[in-house]
Amino acid sequence: MKKRYESIEKPDKCPKCGAPVYEILYGLPVVPEEEYFNTCHEHVIYGGCCISEDDPEWQCSKCGAEIYNAKHIPFTKKDAFAKLDAMLSEEDKKIMTKGDSYEYHFTLGMWIRNNWIYEQNEEYIKRLAEIFGDDSLFFEPDDLSDRIIKSYQRHLRGLKKKMQG
Ligand SMILES: [Zn+2]
Repeated sequence: MKKRYESIEKPDKCPKCGAPVYEILYGLPVVPEEEYFNTCHEHVIYGGCCISEDDPEWQCSKCGAEIYNAKHIPFTKKDAFAKLDAMLSEEDKKIMTKGDSYEYHFTLGMWIRNNWIYEQNEEYIKRLAEIFGDDSLFFEPDDLSDRIIKSYQRHLRGLKKKMQG
């Protein structure tokens, strides 16, 4: 499986090979890449005009590794778990699998609220709530982030069980 790279901001270098990372511009190119660089002094890669709900935001100039913006709101549960997987260290995941670390909930919950809830428009949040089975019309951001974390913990525990056979 191709590894999914995520970052909350433009990485200084490629997580795979260490080469410079360029921003991907979507839509029809207004000027050729070279010309863009000459005027903006910034390397970009044209990503074409086909935009899906889940496109990478940056790309490695050398190996072509694609990097997704972790701040983008997830569109499926699988997508949400992939984002959390990419963001959290193995140590973090171990702690979360073991049990209910409230301290952890606090910081991760805050991150989820800040990036997936507060910064987004209502339609997106409703969708996120739906993905995680919260169909109440007036959900609390705290409840929603808590629900996402619990769901992710169940996912991690499920993986562990599978690995232990
Ligand atoms: Zn690379």
